[in-house]
Amino acid sequence: MSPSAEQWAAAVAAVRSAGAGDEVLLICHVNPDGDALGSMLGFALGLRRLGFTRIQATFPGQFSIPDPYAALPGLDLLVPETDACGDPDMVMVFDVASESRLGGLAGRLAAAPRSVVLDHHASNTGFGQVRLVDPLAAATSVVAEQLLSRLGVPLDAEIAECFYVALATDTGSFKFDMTTVAVHELAARLIATGIRPGEISRRIFDSKPFGAMKLTGEVLGRAVLDPAAAGGLGMVWTYATLSDLERYSQPPYVLDTLIDPVRSVAEADVSVLVKQVGTREWSVSLRSKGAVDVSGVAISQGGGGHRLAAGFTGYGEPDDVVATVRHLLDDFLN
Ligand code: 5GP
Ligand code: MN
Repeated sequence: MSPSAEQWAAAVAAVRSAGAGDEVLLICHVNPDGDALGSMLGFALGLRRLGFTRIQATFPGQFSIPDPYAALPGLDLLVPETDACGDPDMVMVFDVASESRLGGLAGRLAAAPRSVVLDHHASNTGFGQVRLVDPLAAATSVVAEQLLSRLGVPLDAEIAECFYVALATDTGSFKFDMTTVAVHELAARLIATGIRPGEISRRIFDSKPFGAMKLTGEVLGRAVLDPAAAGGLGMVWTYATLSDLERYSQPPYVLDTLIDPVRSVAEADVSVLVKQVGTREWSVSLRSKGAVDVSGVAISQGGGGHRLAAGFTGYGEPDDVVATVRHLLDDFLN
């Protein structure tokens, strides 16, 4: 269910009750993507326009920003987890489906006198004092833009660029089912501020190092099609190891969008990308074209996400992880 009038009012009241000199800490999820960073930084810039002077934005874990997002407005507000204020007066959380995705920052949320959570995952586990969780929103930036609007902050080109990056990322370049009339109307309002969609799209979708292209070729080359999986709907899967990344001198973020060519395989409803994050530890991306609710599989493994795009952490060898997914799909479909 979308946020109620009371929840919107509570979020507005929480922000308004904070003084301009109060410490505000904004947090998005570990390994941030375009929506996590874009919704958080766009909102942070909005708070700056409201007169807040002590704003920090952060995320847990390794402090590296994927190149496609390295030019986002508001990056000057971003600090590593280790530099984040220890006792903020207000915490705001963006695009985080479960507290585990806050890593070592979860305690800041729990201890904060005011907290507001903005999210759009149906699997959101419900945490924080004020919860603006809208599973019908195409991106967390849709929720963030609504809250800024209710706070009387007009869109400007910097805020709009952040929200546009978030919206374009989470709708797969305005291709997914969530790409509603309202999404295009929001995109139109964002573009009306003067931002350059072509230039932004090139930066976030259509630019990658040569080594990343070669790595992509190798990972796609080892993909396996399993037509009998998912009750005959078909599953295609592949994996990438840390040594693959090393061999091509690439950072882990280049694997973040590698599920996209995998999920284009016509013979499979379900696609799986198994990305190594440690010894026998893998970050698993699941996608469905519509027939299967892959969030069920992810949630049963301690992960989460959306019906058609979800993820979890798996253990063992890639074969083991995929065998688990295959069995769970069979269970869910029976
Ligand atoms: P991706 O495959 O692009 O990493 O993630 C797809 C979706 O699943 C995103 O909405 C993301 O938030 C969610 N997701 C991915 N991995 C995890 C995880 O380990 N835990 C949770 N709760 N959600 C995840
Ligand atoms: Mn999102």
